Amino acid sequence: MKIHEYQAKVLLSQFGIPIPKGSVARTPEKARKAAEQVGGKVVIKAQIHAGGRGLVGGIKTAETPGDVEEIAKNLLETKLTTHQTGPEGLPVHTILVEEAVGVEREFYISILIDTSEKTPLAITSEAGGMGIEEVAAKSPEKIIKQHIDPVTGLLPYQARSLAYGMNLPQEHIRPATQIMAGMYKLFTEKDCSLVEINPLVITADGRLLALDAKVNIDDNAIPYHKDIAELRDISQEEPLEVDAAKIGVNYVKLDGDIGCMVNGAGLAMATMDFIKYEGGEPANFLDIGGGVTQEGVRDALKILLSDPKVQVAWINIFGGIVRCDLVARGILEALKEKGMKIPCVLRMHGTNVEEAINLLKESGPNIIFESDFTQAARKAVAVAKA
Ligand code: GDP
Ligand code: MN
Repeated sequence: MKIHEYQAKVLLSQFGIPIPKGSVARTPEKARKAAEQVGGKVVIKAQIHAGGRGLVGGIKTAETPGDVEEIAKNLLETKLTTHQTGPEGLPVHTILVEEAVGVEREFYISILIDTSEKTPLAITSEAGGMGIEEVAAKSPEKIIKQHIDPVTGLLPYQARSLAYGMNLPQEHIRPATQIMAGMYKLFTEKDCSLVEINPLVITADGRLLALDAKVNIDDNAIPYHKDIAELRDISQEEPLEVDAAKIGVNYVKLDGDIGCMVNGAGLAMATMDFIKYEGGEPANFLDIGGGVTQEGVRDALKILLSDPKVQVAWINIFGGIVRCDLVARGILEALKEKGMKIPCVLRMHGTNVEEAINLLKESGPNIIFESDFTQAARKAVAVAKA
C-alpha cells in the first residue's frame, strides 16, 4: 500500500527523523491559513501517490499567503501526470504547505526489500534529488548498497559505510547514521516494503532534513497495523482494482488490450507470458482463485469487461477444484448483465468441461472455443490486432 508524502513524514518524525515544518490543506483558504501558520517563504507540494512531481509543476514555491492561495487554486482538484503515474495521471485533493528551506546539497537514502537476495537492502547516494534512476544507470559508482541481515538489523559499521559513501561532511556522519537507524526501525516495525528519503538535504543553516519521503507498506501486513490502514487513500488507486479487492479476487490492471480471466496465479502468469510471446499485450492480471463461486466468476468478468481498453477477453480455466460448468454459469450471468460487446476466446479443461461448453454454445454468445494453449494465445492476439 502506498501512502502520501505528508503521512510518510509523520511516520519518519515518529522515528526521530527531522522533517520540515508544515501542514496540509484541501482548500485554497486552508492553504492560505497553513502558509500564515508556517510563516515566510513556503513550498507547496501536490500530494499524489507518485514521485516526479518536481518535473511537472507539482512542487511550487511562494513568498506570501496570497500567492499560496492562488497556487492552491490552480493545483487542487487537477490531475498530475508524472513518469510514475501512467498517462491518466492522479488527482490532487491535498497539498502540503511547508517552510521553504535553503538547500546546500541533496542526498538519497532508501531501505527496501531485495527480492533476489531475500533481505532488506539500504541504498544511499551523494546524487540525490530528482532522477535517481538515471544516476543508477549512468553513474553506478555513486550508488552505495548494504544488505541487512534481518537477524542483526542494520549494524553501526554498515550505517557509517553508507554515510561515508555519500561523501557527507564529517559533522553530518553521526546524524545520518541516526536517520538510517530510525528508517530501519520504521521499516521493520511497520512492515514496510520501502522507506525512501529523496532528497535528504543539508540546509543552508547546516541541518540534515528529510525534504521528501516515500513509504510503502506490505499489503499482507495491513491487517496488523490499524494506524497504517487508516492512511489509505483510494482516490489514488485504480478504481477497478479497488472493486476487485472488495470481491476478493486478485486483479492488477495493466496497459494492454487482451483481458485475461484465469484461475490460479501460476496459470495467470503463464497466460500473460503466452500473450507476450505471441506479440500481444495483456490488459490485466486476474486470478479468480481455486474456490471461486458462480457469483465470484460473474463479478470478476464484469470487472474485466469494465476496462474500456479491453478488445478481447481470454478466459483460461483449469477446472480442478472449481467445476467448469460453474464457471460457465458465472460467465453467462455476467454476459446477461453486461452484454458481450467484444469477442471472447475460451480455453477450458477439467471437471465437467463438456457440460460447460454445451451451456456456452447453447446460449450462443460471441465465443471462440480453443482447447490448445498456444492456439488460444494466437487467436486472442489476432483478434486484438484486428
Ligand atoms: P518529487 O519530484 O515528486 O520527488 O518531489 P520532491 O519532494 O523530491 O521535490 C522535488 C525537488 O524540489 C527537490 O529535489 C528539491 O530540489 C526541491 N524542493 C522541494 N522542497 C524544497 C524546499 O523546501 N526548498 C528548496 N530549495 N527546494 C525544495
Ligand atoms: Mn523526491
